[in-house]
Amino acid sequence: MLSDKPIYDITPFTHLDYPGKLACIVWFHGCNMRCMYCYNSDIVFAKEGNYTQNDLFDFLKKRVGLLDGVVLSGGEPTLHDLMPLCRKIRELGFSIKLDTNGLNTQLVVNLVEEGLIDFISLDFKAVNGKFGYITGSSRFSNFMESLKFLIASGFDFEVRTTVHPDLLQPEDINAMMDLLAESGYTGDYYLQRFVETKNNIANLGKPKKSFDETLLEDRLNIVWR
Ligand code: SF4
Repeated sequence: MLSDKPIYDITPFTHLDYPGKLACIVWFHGCNMRCMYCYNSDIVFAKEGNYTQNDLFDFLKKRVGLLDGVVLSGGEPTLHDLMPLCRKIRELGFSIKLDTNGLNTQLVVNLVEEGLIDFISLDFKAVNGKFGYITGSSRFSNFMESLKFLIASGFDFEVRTTVHPDLLQPEDINAMMDLLAESGYTGDYYLQRFVETKNNIANLGKPKKSFDETLLEDRLNIVWR
């Protein structure tokens, strides 16, 4: 996606989103998914952002020595031209974390192989049978390609899933863990509970179903956030 203003917003400071680092968050507009529970619909549907890349670099130049890292989030950051952007962020000395849904495998490969990012949070939305329904995307195979590449490359990354009990039940999470384990993933598996907001994409409210955590198998180390 070529856009003069790819950045929707910048959160100047977080110590929660980049493990072990003080970081800012760069929110890129647009997304190639439409996750039912997504509470960033304003960012997802925005045709343009509010800030240029130069606005970001001006901001970052003032944060040298104050922040350790930059989190690229959104929306889906890999819709944008991240290679030159990451090179410049690197020149300023910051570590870079990428939040991605994994659909743009080639860009993930390029970023990793050129050493332009340090850490990835990979969203695992659902197994193939529910992937399309939850995300509006038919590109499950692209997600799997990214997952397998990251495992094979030995790159530092985590996998995380948002759990809305009306969409994902313990048996779904168990099937997702099976797929992760069979693919060779051995890291922690982060689960985050759906948080009700007014403007999520499918207007989901409070879950009608409960989620019995005791039914989760111990295939991987689960960490709730
Ligand atoms: S939750 Fe889904 S729709 Fe929202 S930004 Fe992430 S991948 Fe896109």
